[in-house]
Amino acid sequence: MIVRSLVCALTLGSAAVYAEVPAPRDREYTPGTLQIHVDATDLAHRVFRVRETIPVQGGPLTLLYPQWLPGVHGPAGPIDKLAGLLITAGGQTLPWTRDTLQPHAFHLDVPQGAASIEVQFQFLSPQNKEQGRVVMTPEMLNLQWNTVSLYPAGYYANRIQVQASATYPAGWQAASAMEIASTNGHTITYKPIDYDDLVDSPVFAGKYFKRIDLASGASPPVYMDVVADEARLLEIKPEQLKPYQELVRQMTLLYGAHHYDHYDFLFALSDKMSGIGLEHHRSSEDGIAADYFTEPEKNLARTGLLPHEYNHSWNGKYRRGADLATPSFNVPMRDSLLWVYEGQTRFWDHVLPARIGLWNAEQTNDMMALMAAEMTKGRPGLNTWRSVQDTTNDPVMNEAGGSVYQSYQARFDYYPAAAMIWLDVDGKLRELSQGKRSIDDFCKAFFGVGDGKYNVNPYTFEDIVKTLNGVVPYDWATYLRQRLDGHDVLHGALEAHGWKLVYNDQPSVAVKSMEAGRKVVNLTYSLGLMIGKDGEIGDVLWDGPAFKAGMVPGMKLIAVNGKEYSADTVKNAVKDKGPIELLVKNFDEYQTLEVDYHDGLKYPHLERVQGTADTLGLLMAPRK
Ligand SMILES: [Zn+2]
Repeated sequence: MIVRSLVCALTLGSAAVYAEVPAPRDREYTPGTLQIHVDATDLAHRVFRVRETIPVQGGPLTLLYPQWLPGVHGPAGPIDKLAGLLITAGGQTLPWTRDTLQPHAFHLDVPQGAASIEVQFQFLSPQNKEQGRVVMTPEMLNLQWNTVSLYPAGYYANRIQVQASATYPAGWQAASAMEIASTNGHTITYKPIDYDDLVDSPVFAGKYFKRIDLASGASPPVYMDVVADEARLLEIKPEQLKPYQELVRQMTLLYGAHHYDHYDFLFALSDKMSGIGLEHHRSSEDGIAADYFTEPEKNLARTGLLPHEYNHSWNGKYRRGADLATPSFNVPMRDSLLWVYEGQTRFWDHVLPARIGLWNAEQTNDMMALMAAEMTKGRPGLNTWRSVQDTTNDPVMNEAGGSVYQSYQARFDYYPAAAMIWLDVDGKLRELSQGKRSIDDFCKAFFGVGDGKYNVNPYTFEDIVKTLNGVVPYDWATYLRQRLDGHDVLHGALEAHGWKLVYNDQPSVAVKSMEAGRKVVNLTYSLGLMIGKDGEIGDVLWDGPAFKAGMVPGMKLIAVNGKEYSADTVKNAVKDKGPIELLVKNFDEYQTLEVDYHDGLKYPHLERVQGTADTLGLLMAPRK
């Protein structure tokens, strides 16, 4: 039947349905420069209106909406939000057909003699978080060019020239890594740029805006462009900015080279626009809670965001895993080296806050302890069936819906799990070199090359091994592969630095901050349970006490030992070490679950191993 219908379609000549999507080639897009204009003023409907002029030649043409997005590492281009596509040439409407296998591709026939086509469509940005990332609010917007443009198939993205312009709401200010050619009223026209760099240069615009110089006039300049829900949130005190100025200095000391000619942190303080952390060569999109500066204790775990995204300018944008360095946004990516790209960056987002004074020693140790606990006791999945390497496939798998049992699925654990591996590598380098070498030497040798360049410099696993061998000779290939491919292998990193992970009944600063910031009760290491707002059950530790009692994510905790649920009732019941009876609601049924757990509250902490050197302290110390 399938064969017959295919034959019918072919014999009927519906060529457009089966047209090939031309593969990208390294050749200049000779018909000319694309003009892309975005009207971003419809705040009421949260719709971005696009008008694009694409120079063309007559004949078949395939237009692409970016699907495989850098930084996301997967096929997440929001094609479902593109609507109203209308293509014309000389006033005549041109019919288009969507590719049946690649729904981000549109096929059409350009009439002979047409020098350009006009493309119009809207990007229907999400109205709430269930529909996707909210990128437009009454006070700010986040314009990502991949959501508001189509580009011709058959060319490397960096061989297509584009001139972009955007009209912003009256009175707003806009920031991006792009340079401005001209401003006319509320419309900004940017200097021509290649399509690769355009997608790498998103815009934050807002009603309440402030630009702060972080490099104090040094070259290359680094700015923090802040947009906020309210004007008062822009009153950032000089002592709050100091760590970010120090971040620029410490990164220069760490890498000794830059991969930007100027850098902009596009920084949103908002509870309305969805949060984001997305890296680019010369900027980053950093969206964080509105109270980030006003309630620092609550936001302790989020302070790694700017160091993380900034680090990617070196690790991820400039140096990128060879299988991830694709020539256009519609070529599938492979993520086998994300344990370097994201894992080492997660390592640095746990080290740099200490080096730049955002975390004190206690906070730093507590954050390390929490990450170590999550990746060992908190991850039966990594201890049994999934390897760190296998988790690097997660961005290519379907992202929708989140985890069911995160402790068992270990989704996206190439971030923290690989951070533990890099911590281990640092310890090993120090041990092998009697304290003369560290991960800083690896970073300078591997990422601190090609000063001033912001192209992509790809690498392989062998390149990493070779550079590590250049720092201190060792069998690094075996060392890394054991940790990447094995199970239950992430215990050694703390011991390598003279510390060990212990559990006691006092919640650490890191746990308290996580509970306040995410509005959860973290009983992972006692009951084996994370409880969300109003008793909603979050993750249930696979094979843990609550799991064995029949607890399931999505249930609602109603009462503990006959008393109405609150964070204190459940914590007190665990503290008493007696029998624990939980009344839970499962759909419309009430059930009583008996939990067999009598060891009291447990929270992760670090403890020094006597008689060893404290190299964690050396790692965390600012560079001079
Ligand atoms: Zn990252």
